[in-house]
Amino acid sequence: MTDLSYLDGNAAAGLLSEVFAADITTAIGRCANCGDEAVVARARVYVDEHGLVVRCSVCGDVIAVAAERAGRLCLDLRGLAWLEFPVE
Ligand SMILES: [Zn+2]
Repeated sequence: MTDLSYLDGNAAAGLLSEVFAADITTAIGRCANCGDEAVVARARVYVDEHGLVVRCSVCGDVIAVAAERAGRLCLDLRGLAWLEFPVE
């Protein structure tokens, strides 16, 4: 990529709205730790009053954390190398 011009984050709104509207249960993710590629529905989910932790079904590493506090949702996906799902 040679063009160094860029847009602000608002330009990503359309595509990212598809990410957050997708059916995550059919999404396929790659564990950043062990490289396993599986549908998210196969992961192990632990829920408590603060939110949830999603762990890889193969190695047990954390692949995602979601927590809600003060009316805001915080999502940490650093345990996923990538996440893929169908879009319309
Ligand atoms: Zn793993």
